[in-house]
Amino acid sequence: MKIICIGRNYAEHAAELGNALPDTGGEPIFFMKPDTALLRNNDPFYIPRFSQDLHYECELIVKINRVGRAIEERFAHRYYDEVGLGIDFTARDVQRRAMELGLPWESAKAFDRSAAVSPEFIPLEQLGGDVQRLHFEMSIDGQVRQRGDTGMMIFTVDRIIAAVSRYITLRTGDLIFTGTPAGVGPVHEGENLTATLEGRTMLDFDIR
Ligand code: MG
Repeated sequence: MKIICIGRNYAEHAAELGNALPDTGGEPIFFMKPDTALLRNNDPFYIPRFSQDLHYECELIVKINRVGRAIEERFAHRYYDEVGLGIDFTARDVQRRAMELGLPWESAKAFDRSAAVSPEFIPLEQLGGDVQRLHFEMSIDGQVRQRGDTGMMIFTVDRIIAAVSRYITLRTGDLIFTGTPAGVGPVHEGENLTATLEGRTMLDFDIR
């Protein structure tokens, strides 16, 4: 399986990073994490030693349920029926250096256990059926840090699937991290991270 992540999919988050929304010709920015990046079962996240500014980014995850390539946007909804929540852990200092040098982001984004994935995925139908009408929230030590409303995405899930599958075949079990809303920030040893999707607790783990 592979993990595909969308960058800068909420305007307020792009602004907080100081990134003007780039003119990508109407296509989302994406990058990937390998399966070694998975952090499952609410296992603790250990801050890697190579970063002094390790950030959380809470994101809605869409799980692909059939093989597809060059998927038309109007058929994209047939390729998923469950969603979860995840954290796209990001070594912000490493990412900044890479961006300044115009280099790839893998060292900042794709390291071991950088993709926390909720133990549970929920059938979309149980959540009202519309992937662009979901609310999620992430807290550190009980204090809300991020609030997401999927209606605010710049690129919808169906548009993301159409765009990514032009280049890369999607397979059953692939995960798409759909971008983070505003409010990203650092994690510190000893904190507890929780996240809810439509009020249901999806993530609850410790930072070590
Ligand atoms: Mg992200």
